[in-house]
Amino acid sequence: MRVLVAGGGISGTVTAMALKLAGHDPVVFEAYPAGGDDIGAFLTIMHNGMDALRAIGADRPVIDNSFAAYGVELVAPTGETVGRREFDTEGLDGPRTLTRATLYGVLQDEAARRGVPLERGRRLVGAQPGPAGITAEFADGTTETGDVLVGADGLRSVVRRLIDPAADEPRYTGLTVVYGYTRAGGLPAAPGIYRMIRGSRAAFGFTTDPDGATFWFARIPDNERPRDEIAAVTPAGWREFAHAAFDGDPLPCKDIIAATGDEVFGGHSYDVPETRVWSTPEMVLTGDAAHAASPAAGQGASMALEDSVVLAQCLRDRPDPVSAFAAYEGLRRERVEKLVKASAGGDVGEERGWLYSHHIDWDAKITA
Ligand SMILES: Cc1cc2nc3c(=O)[nH]c(=O)nc-3n(C[C@H](O)[C@H](O)[C@H](O)COP(=O)(O)OP(=O)(O)OC[C@H]3O[C@@H](n4cnc5c(N)ncnc54)[C@H](O)[C@@H]3O)c2cc1C
Repeated sequence: MRVLVAGGGISGTVTAMALKLAGHDPVVFEAYPAGGDDIGAFLTIMHNGMDALRAIGADRPVIDNSFAAYGVELVAPTGETVGRREFDTEGLDGPRTLTRATLYGVLQDEAARRGVPLERGRRLVGAQPGPAGITAEFADGTTETGDVLVGADGLRSVVRRLIDPAADEPRYTGLTVVYGYTRAGGLPAAPGIYRMIRGSRAAFGFTTDPDGATFWFARIPDNERPRDEIAAVTPAGWREFAHAAFDGDPLPCKDIIAATGDEVFGGHSYDVPETRVWSTPEMVLTGDAAHAASPAAGQGASMALEDSVVLAQCLRDRPDPVSAFAAYEGLRRERVEKLVKASAGGDVGEERGWLYSHHIDWDAKITA
């Protein structure tokens, strides 16, 4: 089956790799001609995301380009450590932290190594079903025909709207998130641990990589501003915005932010609580296109990875796309919507075993 995949991000590349392993013929179309301008952004892939990558043998390149954390430490506004949670790493990979650009690069390289074509500069704008399957239309006027189209085109998915023109817009979570990393010395160190600090107005987290670089993020309650205004904020602007959020707090957050150069990136955080329709007979959604959670659980990438591998299993084992998409939605919807709901409260809670312990057995047959 020729599968058109819109989006060469996390879900698009992994869906394509998994489909190839399942015996299909995927081709990925990525809107951007080159990497994005998100220097400073980084991600943590949790155990369940690493498990999904391991299911298709794609975990090693990520492990080789990331560093591990073994737990979380909770710090009160006074600076006192009030809690500590070790990740249950027994038999589980993760969590692994790496820059967003590195993750995209690693996955795209691995997909290329496996013979998956990825065409850049091809922004999907429309799609028409027809007797030969589905024809995808691109902004440059070109078209491509395949048997099915996977929408792995992220938060502002075009495919979501093609499937259901009445689909809800992403919902602002009320939080602006600023991410950064710095190699400056003399900062408090948190090797192998995410130290989470609750300031009086905003939350901060940081960890130290094996080379001594500090990776940090700040989640700051904020009013929603127009998208072009947010896109125009400079690294210095993001730094100042984050710095001001911890003004007056007796915490190291301000020192870490002030020691950061241009490797800083921010934006509003949105979620997609419910996408009523996930598929048509020829189109289906994965990752943020189908569901997006507020960053509280750090699970967006991991859930996208799970979706990708499960969708490929369904398209491998079910007799036709319609039953494959139904099986996929049956396996995924409840889990991802539970995450979005839990994250929307800002606190996913201490009991996270249901998130981390998800396991995909690639050889297991999807029967319904
Ligand atoms: C700054 C930041 C930090 C984050 N931190 C974390 C974290 O620590 N842990 C975590 O799990 N999650 C995190 N997330 C969320 C996580 O990045 C997403 O959940 C994840 O990227 C979803 O993967 P995806 O493949 O569905 O979408 P994306 O990774 O967004 O990929 C979508 C791809 O589709 C392309 N595209 C878009 N439109 C089109 C089109 N019309 N045609 C063709 N291509 C198109 C885009 O250019 C992009 O490459 C973070 C998000 C941000 C913004």
